[in-house]
Amino acid sequence: MTDLHARLAAIVGAANLLTDPHDLAPAVTDMRGRYTGLPLAMALPASRDEVTALVTLCAAEGIAIVPQGGNTSTCGAATPDTSGRQLIIGLRRMQRVRHIDAANLSITVDAGCTLAQVQQAAASVGRLFPLSLASEGSCQIGGNLSTNAGGLAVLRYGTMRELTLGLEVVLPDGTLLDALSALRKDTTGLDVKQLFIGAEGQLGLITGATLKLFALPTAYSTALLAVDSAEAAIAALNALQARFGDRLTTFEMISEPCQRISERHKPGCMPFFAPWALLVELSDGGEPAALQASFEQWLGGQDFHDGVLAQSETERASLWQLREDISDMQKREGPSIKHDIGVPSSAIPAFLASCGAALDAAFPGVRIVAFGHAGDGNLHYNISYTRPGNAELFTDEDAVNAIVYEHVYRYRGTLAAEHGIGQLKAHWLSQYKDPVALAIMRGIKQQLDPHSIMNPGRWL
Ligand SMILES: Cc1cc2nc3c(=O)[nH]c(=O)nc-3n(C[C@H](O)[C@H](O)[C@H](O)COP(=O)(O)OP(=O)(O)OC[C@H]3O[C@@H](n4cnc5c(N)ncnc54)[C@H](O)[C@@H]3O)c2cc1C
Repeated sequence: MTDLHARLAAIVGAANLLTDPHDLAPAVTDMRGRYTGLPLAMALPASRDEVTALVTLCAAEGIAIVPQGGNTSTCGAATPDTSGRQLIIGLRRMQRVRHIDAANLSITVDAGCTLAQVQQAAASVGRLFPLSLASEGSCQIGGNLSTNAGGLAVLRYGTMRELTLGLEVVLPDGTLLDALSALRKDTTGLDVKQLFIGAEGQLGLITGATLKLFALPTAYSTALLAVDSAEAAIAALNALQARFGDRLTTFEMISEPCQRISERHKPGCMPFFAPWALLVELSDGGEPAALQASFEQWLGGQDFHDGVLAQSETERASLWQLREDISDMQKREGPSIKHDIGVPSSAIPAFLASCGAALDAAFPGVRIVAFGHAGDGNLHYNISYTRPGNAELFTDEDAVNAIVYEHVYRYRGTLAAEHGIGQLKAHWLSQYKDPVALAIMRGIKQQLDPHSIMNPGRWL
């Protein structure tokens, strides 16, 4: 053990400074297995003070820090480089619910809490923390904040940015920023906590957060509906919004290739096939039967050519299972080039038509598997070939991405609406992000982290 290791161990305790390759293994490779690093060590602090001491020591010694939460990033945002000079700091020993103020609809937690822990803590006092992702059992609040995570209920409740009232952050020089406000209005100048949301750990290490809670819905009504075109899907979205307002909680589009893949690997899971299946969920307070009746009545006046309205909690769960299984089912068919793009939802039909035609022309036999949170314009747009194998797929990755992003930006969209930039998309960001916005971001990085201690080698 070097002198530096000994000083790090003195802060967190020897048992909480991981150096053995076996102990480090889950932290050094990213979720998709695309990046593997070689860190100096991984430190597991138990408190804000230990984080502060670690960061102060690293700043003095010029050691870079890679903050890591649940390591569920799909773009290599939390993987260290191979220099052996970067310290991973993981917060899994910081999982305290510090305070719940049910009357103020707020909760203050350590940033190492998993998303599921926060949802459960909120439910225990009859409140809802609405962020919901398939990785919620392992991703942490610090990671959710740093990627501005969204998910299945963004349409109604917004992304992590909209769900955050206050933050506590250890800055790259070890200074503690205490912005743990539980206020909904504060006009005392700039809202500095916003800098750290979506920063992918490049401006500071988040140790605590105060988050918004909501009334826990008592009624859900959930349907899977068939439509013939993306235009019909967006028309249905608008009609639902007009009729149900913010009771429309989820609006997901599932393309036919996606439906066929699911059925192939889980026979009997699809109640129908259609150019697009829409997973629609309404939620509300009050009597479940009342919400179900008004959804049923509305559906009666529409001309969906097929559909299923869940009649029980079990049926509702199986519709959700269908949606949640998609990524796993697709994985069974081999690798794909994944995108988490976003365009205004009104532009989804035009984007799908023009980008699909361009990909078809450039890569005959291409298979586009599109699905996702269309209510907020965010689509998973995954590309593979229909022929078996796919071995050569990744040699075409840059060319595929160039076509997809050209079409995304034609509709003033974004190349990352959900999973962030990480290592995977860093070079694309400098091509597509407004240069003035990039210059402002880099200026902030220079101001807060002049020696580039925090998660270096990413996009800032
Ligand atoms: C199956 C699956 C489904 C997913 N679904 C969605 C989805 O629906 N919506 C969505 O938005 N995302 C989704 N994601 C990706 C998503 O980014 C993450 O699951 C989650 O937000 C990342 O949290 P994490 O704790 O795992 O962070 P990590 O992967 O550990 O880190 C992500 C980034 O945050 C930084 N970071 C982590 N903790 C801190 C901290 N305390 N302080 C400062 N920086 C920190 C890291 O340095 C890194 O840059 C999904 C991922 C998977 C695997």
